Amino acid sequence: MDDQLFKRAMGKFATGVTVVTTEVGENVHGMTANAFMSVSLDPKLIVISVANKATMKGYLDNAGSFAVSMLADNQADLSMYFAGQKKDDKSVEFDVFDNMPVLHGAIATITCDVHNTHLEGDHTLYIGRVRDIRVDDEGKPLAYFSGKYYDLA
Ligand code: FAD
Ligand code: NAD
Repeated sequence: MDDQLFKRAMGKFATGVTVVTTEVGENVHGMTANAFMSVSLDPKLIVISVANKATMKGYLDNAGSFAVSMLADNQADLSMYFAGQKKDDKSVEFDVFDNMPVLHGAIATITCDVHNTHLEGDHTLYIGRVRDIRVDDEGKPLAYFSGKYYDLA
């Protein structure tokens, strides 16, 4: 099976965009992720899928907790930045929510403890047990489809 065909098909599944953040000691790390899903209401669980080669994996394994910031329609630059696609040397200012670094301006923010992990192929699934949630009901999402960003308006 051709990798490009797989990616082309997966790219047809329109998603939002998140930035996963975590902290080990004084070091904060962020990574753009669209492989995010709600898993369970009772208990409240979510999942993210992280490439085994991503720097984020080591951070998550050490931190044992993470936050998911759902990006707003004006935050495509942050998506590119935390995907390593924009190399400007800017320092990002993080908000602190539930003692976790999160992105300012996100339309929803979830903090989690790592509840379980599953190594699956070249990715690891991190099941997060939700600790706290913050929602901006006025915010509009950044959408991602076939490798391009869209706002729903
Ligand atoms: P790096 O590539 O080293 O870090 C990412 C970038 O964030 C770097 O530019 C770094 O300088 C910057 N950065 C990190 N922390 C900080 C900080 N504290 N202050 C300032 N800058 C910081 N990959 C997946 O595994 N799963 C997914 O679900 C997924 N979804 C994606 C969705 C989209 C729309 C895109 C564009 C990419 C997606 N990727 C996903 C790919 C992933 O975002 C990149 O491969 C990313 O570069 C991997 O991050 P990393 O942890 O290896 O660290
Ligand atoms: P793309 O054509 O590489 O990706 C389209 C879709 O394919 C993505 O939305 C995702 O669902 C899937 N996909 C891509 N790479 C994957 C991977 N390594 N493992 C599992 N699923 C994958 O184009 P793009 O959307 O422009 O991506 C930009 C960069 O970000 C690429 O390097 C891509 O590999 C990476 N990315 C990785 C993931 C992931 O690991 N889950 C998701 C999205 C993008």
